[in-house]
Amino acid sequence: MIVVLTGGTGGAKLVEGLAQILPARELTVVVNTGDDLEWWGLHVSPDVDSVTYALAGLLSTDRGWGGEGDTFDCLGVLRRVGRPAWFCSGARDLATHLIRTELLKAGKSLAEATEEIVRKFGVVATILPMTNERVETRIETPDGELGFQEYFVRERWQPEVRGVRFVGAQEAKPAPGVLEAIRDAEAIIIAPSNPVTSIGPILAVPGIREALRNSETAIAAISPIVGGAPVSGPAGALMSAQGLPVSVAGIAQSYGDFLNTLIVDSRDAAAAVDLHSLGIEVHCTNTIMKSAADKVELARTCLRVFAGARSAQSA
Ligand code: GDP
Repeated sequence: MIVVLTGGTGGAKLVEGLAQILPARELTVVVNTGDDLEWWGLHVSPDVDSVTYALAGLLSTDRGWGGEGDTFDCLGVLRRVGRPAWFCSGARDLATHLIRTELLKAGKSLAEATEEIVRKFGVVATILPMTNERVETRIETPDGELGFQEYFVRERWQPEVRGVRFVGAQEAKPAPGVLEAIRDAEAIIIAPSNPVTSIGPILAVPGIREALRNSETAIAAISPIVGGAPVSGPAGALMSAQGLPVSVAGIAQSYGDFLNTLIVDSRDAAAAVDLHSLGIEVHCTNTIMKSAADKVELARTCLRVFAGARSAQSA
């Protein structure tokens, strides 16, 4: 079994590639829920939904989130009547939020609700939210603290970031199956996701980072920093706010206590030279996933890296 730790857009693309080359039952995806929000009374799990839609073949390739061909009429009406409509959720997406909220209200845990939704979408791979408890990523700005989606979507990640915290993480437990998946994995991949607000919340749930540190399985990460800058989104500002360099070295520092291999883009080869001194293997390749072929190729590279690590171990 291959286990992937991921956020939304970057990781969903990689997971889509892995699903093309692995039997579905061999894939377990542990997903960030620090981005979750309550929206018009509905429980929205943006990263879980992105991974689900990706595996169901429904993810919008243009946007990288939400369903392909979804419509936004509901938001249009809300806007026209002057009601909050800043969080972008398409009509089909709303159906997912309605179903999840109904399941949670009926007493199901987030993991149980996720499993039910995932199966309804015909996805066979396992998708696990990192925790059943509420963990909330909060962004500290000069004008006060914002919820992650307020910062990211409503404010279009423009405010200066002074700090990041994961409210509730200390009291949270890994969702059932998460620690077992890490323990039983043949290989673990940290997806090309924002290290602070996508992978950070997962690692903040007590027990998960320790399980990775104690794992004897090969662990590889794919850098979301390409050519010295994020491919998209606020990873740069968030990494700087955490005192991390915005580079492949910053990614290596984020995961250095458990990482074996960092897969970096070929254009970061020079910047990655020093990482060997941290005891991290570096593998250079194209890591930009634009086409379906790019996603599959990067997924194949991950499996080749693990096969190489296994044969080096047994030699
Ligand atoms: P979110 O949950 O949607 O905010 O997004 P993620 O954290 O999963 O993904 C955003 C991160 O993925 C950003 O830091 C991007 O730099 C990175 N990313 C997005 N697409 C790609 C890609 O094709 N290749 C690589 N290497 N990184 C990517």
